[in-house]
Amino acid sequence: MISFENTEVAFESKSNADLKRAYRLFKMVSSPRMVKFGKWATNIALKIRFPLKGIVKKTIFKQFCGGETKEECKGTIADLWKYRIGTILDYSVEGKNNTEDLENTKDEIISTVVKASENESIPFSVFKITGVGRFANLEKFNKPGSPVSEEDKREFQEVSRRVEEICKSAYEHKVPLFIDAEDFCIQDTIDRMATAMMAKYNKEQAIIYNTVQMYRVDRLDHLKLAVKSAKESGYHYAVKLVRGAYMEEERHLAKEKGYPDPIHPDKASCDKAYDSALEFLIDNLESVSLCAGTHNEKSSLYLAQLLDDKGVKRDNPKVYFAQLLGMSDHISFNLSKNGFNVAKYVPYGPVKEVLPYLIRRAEENTSIAGQTSRELSLIIKERKRRKLV
Ligand SMILES: Cc1cc2nc3c(=O)[nH]c(=O)nc-3n(C[C@H](O)[C@H](O)[C@H](O)COP(=O)(O)OP(=O)(O)OC[C@H]3O[C@@H](n4cnc5c(N)ncnc54)[C@H](O)[C@@H]3O)c2cc1C
Repeated sequence: MISFENTEVAFESKSNADLKRAYRLFKMVSSPRMVKFGKWATNIALKIRFPLKGIVKKTIFKQFCGGETKEECKGTIADLWKYRIGTILDYSVEGKNNTEDLENTKDEIISTVVKASENESIPFSVFKITGVGRFANLEKFNKPGSPVSEEDKREFQEVSRRVEEICKSAYEHKVPLFIDAEDFCIQDTIDRMATAMMAKYNKEQAIIYNTVQMYRVDRLDHLKLAVKSAKESGYHYAVKLVRGAYMEEERHLAKEKGYPDPIHPDKASCDKAYDSALEFLIDNLESVSLCAGTHNEKSSLYLAQLLDDKGVKRDNPKVYFAQLLGMSDHISFNLSKNGFNVAKYVPYGPVKEVLPYLIRRAEENTSIAGQTSRELSLIIKERKRRKLV
Protein backbone atom coordinates (compact mmCIF):
# COMPACT_ATOMS: atom_id res chain seq x y z
CA MET A 1 0.00 0.00 0.00
CA ILE A 2 1.09 3.56 -0.51
CA SER A 3 2.86 5.57 2.16
CA PHE A 4 3.32 9.31 2.64
CA GLU A 5 6.66 8.85 4.40
CA ASN A 6 8.72 9.20 1.26
CA THR A 7 10.07 12.77 1.29
CA GLU A 8 12.27 12.07 -1.73
CA VAL A 9 9.11 11.72 -3.83
CA ALA A 10 7.33 14.51 -1.94
CA PHE A 11 10.03 17.07 -2.74
CA GLU A 12 11.23 15.68 -6.07
CA SER A 13 10.28 18.91 -7.81
CA LYS A 14 12.12 21.12 -5.29
CA SER A 15 15.73 22.24 -5.69
CA ASN A 16 17.99 22.57 -2.66
CA ALA A 17 17.48 26.32 -2.81
CA ASP A 18 13.67 25.87 -2.87
CA LEU A 19 13.91 23.66 0.21
CA LYS A 20 16.07 26.19 2.02
CA ARG A 21 13.58 28.98 1.28
CA ALA A 22 10.66 26.79 2.42
CA TYR A 23 12.60 25.80 5.55
CA ARG A 24 13.21 29.44 6.50
CA LEU A 25 9.59 30.36 5.86
CA PHE A 26 8.04 27.49 7.83
CA LYS A 27 10.56 28.04 10.62
CA MET A 28 9.52 31.69 10.82
CA VAL A 29 5.77 31.02 10.79
CA SER A 30 6.17 28.22 13.34
CA SER A 31 6.40 30.90 16.01
CA PRO A 32 2.89 32.10 16.99
CA ARG A 33 4.48 35.33 18.24
CA MET A 34 6.18 35.92 14.92
CA VAL A 35 2.92 35.35 13.00
CA LYS A 36 1.05 37.71 15.33
CA PHE A 37 3.75 40.31 14.84
CA GLY A 38 3.75 39.74 11.05
CA LYS A 39 -0.01 40.26 10.92
CA TRP A 40 0.27 43.49 12.94
CA ALA A 41 3.23 44.76 10.89
CA THR A 42 1.40 43.99 7.62
CA ASN A 43 -1.60 46.04 8.72
CA ILE A 44 0.62 48.97 9.69
CA ALA A 45 2.58 48.70 6.43
CA LEU A 46 -0.67 48.79 4.45
CA LYS A 47 -1.89 51.83 6.39
CA ILE A 48 1.30 53.84 5.83
CA ARG A 49 1.55 52.55 2.26
CA PHE A 50 4.94 50.93 2.89
CA PRO A 51 5.95 48.98 -0.25
CA LEU A 52 5.40 45.41 0.99
CA LYS A 53 5.07 43.71 -2.35
CA GLY A 54 8.76 42.93 -2.95
CA ILE A 55 9.32 41.17 0.37
CA VAL A 56 6.02 39.30 0.37
CA LYS A 57 6.35 38.16 -3.24
CA LYS A 58 9.77 36.62 -2.67
CA THR A 59 8.78 34.77 0.49
CA ILE A 60 5.34 33.62 1.60
CA PHE A 61 3.66 34.47 -1.75
CA LYS A 62 6.20 32.31 -3.61
CA GLN A 63 5.42 29.36 -1.33
CA PHE A 64 1.62 29.48 -1.49
CA CYS A 65 0.66 31.32 -4.70
CA GLY A 66 1.21 30.70 -8.40
CA GLY A 67 1.56 34.35 -9.40
CA GLU A 68 -0.27 37.65 -9.57
CA THR A 69 -1.99 36.73 -12.82
CA LYS A 70 -2.96 33.51 -14.60
CA GLU A 71 -0.07 34.05 -17.00
CA GLU A 72 2.39 34.22 -14.10
CA CYS A 73 1.15 30.79 -12.93
CA LYS A 74 2.44 29.15 -16.12
CA GLY A 75 5.68 27.90 -14.49
CA THR A 76 3.86 26.42 -11.48
CA ILE A 77 1.30 24.70 -13.71
CA ALA A 78 4.05 23.15 -15.84
CA ASP A 79 6.13 22.11 -12.81
CA LEU A 80 3.17 20.30 -11.23
CA TRP A 81 2.16 18.67 -14.48
CA LYS A 82 5.63 17.11 -14.88
CA TYR A 83 4.49 14.93 -11.97
CA ARG A 84 0.93 14.51 -13.35
CA ILE A 85 -0.49 16.85 -10.74
CA GLY A 86 -3.22 19.10 -12.10
CA THR A 87 -3.76 22.75 -11.26
CA ILE A 88 -6.96 24.40 -10.08
CA LEU A 89 -6.53 28.13 -10.66
CA ASP A 90 -8.04 29.88 -7.65
CA TYR A 91 -8.55 33.63 -8.06
CA SER A 92 -8.06 34.52 -4.41
CA VAL A 93 -9.23 38.12 -4.24
CA GLU A 94 -11.58 38.42 -1.26
CA GLY A 95 -14.02 40.84 0.33
CA LYS A 96 -15.03 42.85 -2.75
CA ASN A 97 -18.38 44.53 -2.48
CA ASN A 98 -19.11 46.95 -5.28
CA THR A 99 -20.84 45.90 -8.48
CA GLU A 100 -17.88 46.65 -10.72
CA ASP A 101 -15.52 44.48 -8.65
CA LEU A 102 -18.05 41.63 -8.47
CA GLU A 103 -18.50 41.75 -12.27
CA ASN A 104 -14.72 41.81 -12.77
CA THR A 105 -14.32 38.77 -10.52
CA LYS A 106 -17.03 36.95 -12.48
CA ASP A 107 -15.20 37.73 -15.75
CA GLU A 108 -11.88 36.61 -14.27
CA ILE A 109 -13.41 33.29 -13.16
CA ILE A 110 -14.87 32.72 -16.61
CA SER A 111 -11.41 33.35 -18.04
CA THR A 112 -10.04 30.58 -15.77
CA VAL A 113 -12.72 28.25 -17.17
CA VAL A 114 -11.64 29.08 -20.71
CA LYS A 115 -7.98 28.57 -19.80
CA ALA A 116 -8.80 25.20 -18.21
CA SER A 117 -10.60 24.10 -21.39
CA GLU A 118 -7.36 24.69 -23.32
CA ASN A 119 -5.04 22.89 -20.88
CA GLU A 120 -5.19 19.22 -19.88
CA SER A 121 -3.05 20.22 -16.88
CA ILE A 122 -6.00 22.21 -15.44
CA PRO A 123 -8.70 19.64 -14.66
CA PHE A 124 -11.06 21.93 -12.68
CA SER A 125 -12.05 25.55 -12.13
CA VAL A 126 -13.26 26.98 -8.85
CA PHE A 127 -14.98 29.98 -7.34
CA LYS A 128 -16.54 31.32 -4.17
CA ILE A 129 -20.04 32.76 -4.37
CA THR A 130 -18.92 35.60 -2.06
CA GLY A 131 -16.50 36.55 -4.87
CA VAL A 132 -19.49 37.49 -7.04
CA GLY A 133 -22.05 38.54 -4.40
CA ARG A 134 -22.12 40.51 -1.17
CA PHE A 135 -22.07 38.39 1.98
CA ALA A 136 -24.83 40.47 3.61
CA ASN A 137 -27.13 39.93 0.66
CA LEU A 138 -26.52 36.16 0.57
CA GLU A 139 -27.23 36.00 4.30
CA LYS A 140 -30.64 37.63 3.85
CA PHE A 141 -31.70 34.82 1.52
CA ASN A 142 -30.35 31.99 3.69
CA LYS A 143 -33.66 31.26 5.39
CA PRO A 144 -36.53 31.24 2.89
CA GLY A 145 -39.32 33.53 4.03
CA SER A 146 -37.07 36.06 5.80
CA PRO A 147 -38.09 39.67 5.12
CA VAL A 148 -36.29 41.14 2.11
CA SER A 149 -36.75 44.42 0.24
CA GLU A 150 -37.22 44.85 -3.51
CA GLU A 151 -33.67 46.19 -3.65
CA ASP A 152 -32.39 43.02 -1.90
CA LYS A 153 -34.24 40.90 -4.46
CA ARG A 154 -32.79 42.87 -7.36
CA GLU A 155 -29.29 42.50 -5.94
CA PHE A 156 -29.78 38.77 -5.38
CA GLN A 157 -30.97 38.34 -8.97
CA GLU A 158 -27.71 39.91 -10.11
CA VAL A 159 -25.68 37.48 -7.98
CA SER A 160 -27.69 34.57 -9.40
CA ARG A 161 -27.06 35.86 -12.92
CA ARG A 162 -23.29 35.94 -12.31
CA VAL A 163 -23.34 32.41 -10.88
CA GLU A 164 -25.39 31.23 -13.86
CA GLU A 165 -22.97 32.84 -16.34
CA ILE A 166 -19.99 31.11 -14.71
CA CYS A 167 -21.72 27.70 -14.58
CA LYS A 168 -22.98 28.02 -18.17
CA SER A 169 -19.46 28.76 -19.32
CA ALA A 170 -18.17 25.67 -17.44
CA TYR A 171 -20.88 23.59 -19.13
CA GLU A 172 -20.16 24.96 -22.60
CA HIS A 173 -16.42 24.44 -22.19
CA LYS A 174 -16.90 21.04 -20.50
CA VAL A 175 -14.77 22.14 -17.53
CA PRO A 176 -15.75 20.73 -14.12
CA LEU A 177 -16.25 23.61 -11.69
CA PHE A 178 -16.12 23.64 -7.88
CA ILE A 179 -18.34 25.95 -5.86
CA ASP A 180 -16.52 26.46 -2.56
CA ALA A 181 -18.35 26.07 0.77
CA GLU A 182 -18.37 29.06 3.11
CA ASP A 183 -19.93 30.24 6.39
CA PHE A 184 -22.86 28.45 7.99
CA CYS A 185 -25.07 31.56 7.81
CA ILE A 186 -24.87 31.71 3.99
CA GLN A 187 -24.35 28.02 3.18
CA ASP A 188 -28.05 27.24 2.58
CA THR A 189 -28.12 29.97 -0.05
CA ILE A 190 -24.98 28.52 -1.64
CA ASP A 191 -26.38 24.96 -1.51
CA ARG A 192 -29.62 26.02 -3.22
CA MET A 193 -27.72 27.79 -5.99
CA ALA A 194 -25.30 24.87 -6.43
CA THR A 195 -28.13 22.32 -6.51
CA ALA A 196 -30.01 24.31 -9.15
CA MET A 197 -26.85 24.52 -11.27
CA MET A 198 -26.16 20.77 -10.88
CA ALA A 199 -29.72 19.92 -11.89
CA LYS A 200 -29.33 22.09 -14.99
CA TYR A 201 -25.78 21.29 -16.10
CA ASN A 202 -24.96 17.80 -14.74
CA LYS A 203 -27.42 15.82 -16.88
CA GLU A 204 -24.78 14.30 -19.18
CA GLN A 205 -21.72 14.45 -16.92
CA ALA A 206 -20.48 15.98 -13.67
CA ILE A 207 -19.75 19.65 -14.35
CA ILE A 208 -20.89 21.54 -11.25
CA TYR A 209 -19.45 20.36 -7.93
CA ASN A 210 -20.88 21.63 -4.66
CA THR A 211 -18.65 21.52 -1.56
CA VAL A 212 -19.74 19.73 1.61
CA GLN A 213 -18.12 20.53 4.97
CA MET A 214 -18.07 17.40 7.11
CA TYR A 215 -17.33 19.31 10.32
CA ARG A 216 -21.06 20.05 10.36
CA VAL A 217 -23.11 17.53 12.33
CA ASP A 218 -25.90 17.49 9.74
CA ARG A 219 -23.79 16.87 6.64
CA LEU A 220 -23.78 13.09 6.33
CA ASP A 221 -27.59 13.10 6.19
CA HIS A 222 -27.49 16.08 3.83
CA LEU A 223 -25.12 14.21 1.53
CA LYS A 224 -27.27 11.07 1.46
CA LEU A 225 -30.36 13.11 0.66
CA ALA A 226 -28.56 15.10 -2.03
CA VAL A 227 -27.33 11.92 -3.77
CA LYS A 228 -30.80 10.38 -3.57
CA SER A 229 -32.54 13.41 -4.97
CA ALA A 230 -29.96 13.77 -7.79
CA LYS A 231 -30.56 10.11 -8.72
CA GLU A 232 -34.33 10.60 -8.72
CA SER A 233 -34.08 13.78 -10.78
CA GLY A 234 -31.64 12.24 -13.27
CA TYR A 235 -28.46 14.25 -12.86
CA HIS A 236 -24.93 13.49 -11.66
CA TYR A 237 -24.16 14.49 -8.10
CA ALA A 238 -20.66 15.95 -7.82
CA VAL A 239 -19.02 17.01 -4.59
CA LYS A 240 -15.80 18.37 -3.18
CA LEU A 241 -15.61 16.89 0.30
CA VAL A 242 -13.80 18.97 2.95
CA ARG A 243 -13.76 19.13 6.73
CA GLY A 244 -14.45 22.88 6.85
CA ALA A 245 -12.40 26.00 7.36
CA TYR A 246 -14.42 28.19 9.71
CA MET A 247 -14.74 26.13 12.90
CA GLU A 248 -13.71 28.76 15.46
CA GLU A 249 -15.91 31.49 13.98
CA GLU A 250 -18.89 29.11 13.71
CA ARG A 251 -18.61 28.00 17.33
CA HIS A 252 -18.24 31.60 18.44
CA LEU A 253 -21.23 32.83 16.39
CA ALA A 254 -23.48 29.99 17.57
CA LYS A 255 -22.68 30.86 21.17
CA GLU A 256 -23.12 34.58 20.64
CA LYS A 257 -26.43 34.26 18.77
CA GLY A 258 -27.75 31.39 20.90
CA TYR A 259 -28.34 28.67 18.30
CA PRO A 260 -26.97 25.08 18.52
CA ASP A 261 -23.31 24.74 17.51
CA PRO A 262 -23.45 23.30 13.97
CA ILE A 263 -19.97 21.75 14.27
CA HIS A 264 -19.07 18.26 15.56
CA PRO A 265 -18.17 18.34 19.26
CA ASP A 266 -14.65 17.01 18.67
CA LYS A 267 -12.08 16.21 16.01
CA ALA A 268 -12.62 12.44 16.26
CA SER A 269 -16.33 12.69 15.36
CA CYS A 270 -15.51 15.08 12.51
CA ASP A 271 -12.89 12.65 11.18
CA LYS A 272 -15.32 9.72 11.47
CA ALA A 273 -17.99 11.63 9.55
CA TYR A 274 -15.48 12.56 6.82
CA ASP A 275 -14.40 8.96 6.30
CA SER A 276 -17.99 7.66 6.41
CA ALA A 277 -18.87 10.19 3.71
CA LEU A 278 -15.95 8.96 1.58
CA GLU A 279 -17.19 5.38 1.84
CA PHE A 280 -20.79 6.36 1.08
CA LEU A 281 -19.71 8.30 -2.01
CA ILE A 282 -17.48 5.53 -3.35
CA ASP A 283 -20.34 3.06 -2.85
CA ASN A 284 -22.49 5.31 -5.05
CA LEU A 285 -19.88 6.06 -7.67
CA GLU A 286 -22.18 5.13 -10.56
CA SER A 287 -24.02 8.43 -10.03
CA VAL A 288 -21.44 10.44 -8.06
CA SER A 289 -18.16 12.27 -8.70
CA LEU A 290 -15.88 13.14 -5.81
CA CYS A 291 -12.92 15.33 -5.05
CA ALA A 292 -11.44 14.83 -1.56
CA GLY A 293 -10.04 18.23 -0.58
CA THR A 294 -7.95 17.28 2.41
CA HIS A 295 -4.47 17.39 3.95
CA ASN A 296 -5.36 14.62 6.36
CA GLU A 297 -3.04 11.65 5.84
CA LYS A 298 -5.41 9.06 7.32
CA SER A 299 -8.40 10.12 5.20
CA SER A 300 -6.25 10.27 2.05
CA LEU A 301 -4.93 6.76 2.74
CA TYR A 302 -8.43 5.59 3.58
CA LEU A 303 -9.79 6.80 0.24
CA ALA A 304 -6.84 5.30 -1.65
CA GLN A 305 -7.47 1.97 0.12
CA LEU A 306 -11.23 2.15 -0.55
CA LEU A 307 -10.58 2.53 -4.27
CA ASP A 308 -8.24 -0.46 -4.32
CA ASP A 309 -10.50 -2.60 -2.13
CA LYS A 310 -13.63 -1.86 -4.14
CA GLY A 311 -11.90 -2.39 -7.47
CA VAL A 312 -12.19 1.22 -8.62
CA LYS A 313 -9.35 2.13 -10.97
CA ARG A 314 -6.90 4.58 -9.39
CA ASP A 315 -7.22 6.95 -12.33
CA ASN A 316 -11.01 6.78 -12.54
CA PRO A 317 -11.88 10.37 -13.57
CA LYS A 318 -14.72 10.40 -11.03
CA VAL A 319 -12.31 10.45 -8.09
CA TYR A 320 -9.74 13.14 -7.36
CA PHE A 321 -7.61 14.13 -4.39
CA ALA A 322 -6.79 17.83 -3.91
CA GLN A 323 -4.44 19.85 -1.72
CA LEU A 324 -3.33 23.46 -1.59
CA LEU A 325 -0.15 24.65 -3.32
CA GLY A 326 2.80 24.78 -0.93
CA MET A 327 1.27 22.32 1.53
CA SER A 328 1.13 18.55 1.94
CA ASP A 329 3.31 17.76 -1.06
CA HIS A 330 4.07 14.44 0.64
CA ILE A 331 0.40 13.52 0.08
CA SER A 332 0.01 14.99 -3.42
CA PHE A 333 3.25 13.71 -4.94
CA ASN A 334 3.08 10.22 -3.39
CA LEU A 335 -0.54 9.78 -4.49
CA SER A 336 0.22 10.94 -8.01
CA LYS A 337 3.32 8.73 -8.24
CA ASN A 338 1.07 5.79 -7.34
CA GLY A 339 -1.38 6.51 -10.13
CA PHE A 340 -4.16 8.40 -8.31
CA ASN A 341 -5.70 11.61 -9.72
CA VAL A 342 -4.37 14.65 -7.88
CA ALA A 343 -4.77 18.40 -8.28
CA LYS A 344 -3.56 21.41 -6.33
CA TYR A 345 -5.41 24.67 -5.70
CA VAL A 346 -3.06 27.31 -7.13
CA PRO A 347 -4.16 30.66 -5.70
CA TYR A 348 -3.33 33.78 -7.65
CA GLY A 349 -4.07 37.51 -7.58
CA PRO A 350 -2.34 40.82 -6.82
CA VAL A 351 -0.05 40.48 -3.76
CA LYS A 352 -2.02 43.02 -1.72
CA GLU A 353 -5.32 41.30 -2.47
CA VAL A 354 -4.18 37.80 -1.49
CA LEU A 355 -2.70 38.90 1.85
CA PRO A 356 -5.68 37.58 3.89
CA TYR A 357 -5.20 34.16 2.24
CA LEU A 358 -1.47 34.22 3.02
CA ILE A 359 -2.05 35.20 6.65
CA ARG A 360 -4.43 32.23 7.05
CA ARG A 361 -1.77 29.87 5.66
CA ALA A 362 0.81 31.31 8.08
CA GLU A 363 -1.58 30.90 11.03
CA GLU A 364 -2.35 27.33 10.01
CA ASN A 365 1.36 26.45 10.12
CA THR A 366 2.29 27.84 13.52
CA SER A 367 3.50 25.13 15.85
CA ILE A 368 1.19 23.94 18.58
CA ALA A 369 2.65 23.68 22.09
CA GLY A 370 6.22 23.95 20.87
CA GLN A 371 5.97 20.94 18.50
CA THR A 372 7.50 21.23 15.04
CA SER A 373 4.74 21.69 12.46
CA ARG A 374 4.18 18.85 10.02
CA GLU A 375 5.40 20.82 6.98
CA LEU A 376 8.57 21.88 8.79
CA SER A 377 9.32 18.32 10.00
CA LEU A 378 9.01 17.01 6.43
CA ILE A 379 11.33 19.69 5.06
CA ILE A 380 13.88 18.97 7.80
CA LYS A 381 13.69 15.25 7.03
CA GLU A 382 14.30 15.83 3.32
CA ARG A 383 17.15 18.29 3.92
CA LYS A 384 18.81 15.66 6.13
CA ARG A 385 18.28 12.97 3.49
CA ARG A 386 19.96 15.23 0.93
CA LYS A 387 22.77 15.80 3.43
CA LEU A 388 22.22 19.55 3.33
CA VAL A 389 22.40 19.87 7.09
C1 LIG B 1 -8.36 21.47 -2.06
C2 LIG B 1 -9.04 22.03 -0.86
C3 LIG B 1 -10.22 22.75 -1.00
C4 LIG B 1 -10.86 23.29 0.13
N1 LIG B 1 -12.06 23.94 -0.04
C5 LIG B 1 -12.74 24.37 1.05
C6 LIG B 1 -14.01 24.96 0.94
O1 LIG B 1 -14.55 25.14 -0.16
N2 LIG B 1 -14.65 25.35 2.08
C7 LIG B 1 -14.10 25.16 3.33
O2 LIG B 1 -14.74 25.49 4.33
N3 LIG B 1 -12.89 24.62 3.45
C8 LIG B 1 -12.19 24.22 2.36
N4 LIG B 1 -10.96 23.65 2.51
C9 LIG B 1 -10.30 23.63 3.85
C10 LIG B 1 -10.74 22.43 4.65
O3 LIG B 1 -12.10 22.57 4.98
C11 LIG B 1 -9.96 22.28 5.97
O4 LIG B 1 -10.07 23.43 6.75
C12 LIG B 1 -8.51 21.96 5.81
O5 LIG B 1 -8.23 21.24 4.67
C13 LIG B 1 -8.03 21.17 7.03
O6 LIG B 1 -8.70 19.93 7.14
P1 LIG B 1 -8.10 18.56 6.62
O7 LIG B 1 -9.15 17.67 6.07
O8 LIG B 1 -6.99 18.89 5.69
O9 LIG B 1 -7.53 17.76 7.86
P2 LIG B 1 -7.10 18.02 9.32
O10 LIG B 1 -5.99 19.00 9.33
O11 LIG B 1 -6.90 16.69 9.90
O12 LIG B 1 -8.37 18.63 10.02
C14 LIG B 1 -8.50 19.93 10.47
C15 LIG B 1 -9.96 20.23 10.39
O13 LIG B 1 -10.71 19.36 11.24
C16 LIG B 1 -11.83 20.04 11.81
N5 LIG B 1 -11.64 20.09 13.26
C17 LIG B 1 -10.49 20.37 13.92
N6 LIG B 1 -10.68 20.32 15.26
C18 LIG B 1 -11.97 20.00 15.45
C19 LIG B 1 -12.77 19.83 16.62
N7 LIG B 1 -12.26 19.97 17.82
N8 LIG B 1 -14.07 19.52 16.43
C20 LIG B 1 -14.61 19.36 15.20
N9 LIG B 1 -13.89 19.52 14.07
C21 LIG B 1 -12.59 19.83 14.18
C22 LIG B 1 -11.80 21.44 11.20
O14 LIG B 1 -12.61 21.40 10.05
C23 LIG B 1 -10.34 21.64 10.82
O15 LIG B 1 -10.17 22.56 9.76
C24 LIG B 1 -10.30 23.11 1.40
C25 LIG B 1 -9.12 22.39 1.55
C26 LIG B 1 -8.49 21.84 0.46
C27 LIG B 1 -7.22 21.07 0.64
